[in-house]
Amino acid sequence: MAKVRCNSCGSSRFEERKVDYLYSHQGKYLIVQNTPVEVCLDCGMMYYDGAVLEDIEEQFLSIYEGNKEPESYIKIPTQTYCKP
Ligand SMILES: [Zn+2]
Repeated sequence: MAKVRCNSCGSSRFEERKVDYLYSHQGKYLIVQNTPVEVCLDCGMMYYDGAVLEDIEEQFLSIYEGNKEPESYIKIPTQTYCKP
């Protein structure tokens, strides 16, 4: 997966990194650690491979359909935006 030009700034300098990807669908969430992503070194734009996103969607579905246990759970605090 090599991008030629960044859609955002036109740069051709990319680096592959591993990030925690947050997948959300209809109020349900799955965090996928170590997800590979190409990052533009000039503007920071992130490009995920379509095949990677499909894998994530598949894992999300099998976990929420009860076919697969996630590795772990975390608790995330939530807050609707309000001015202090
Ligand atoms: Zn860029």
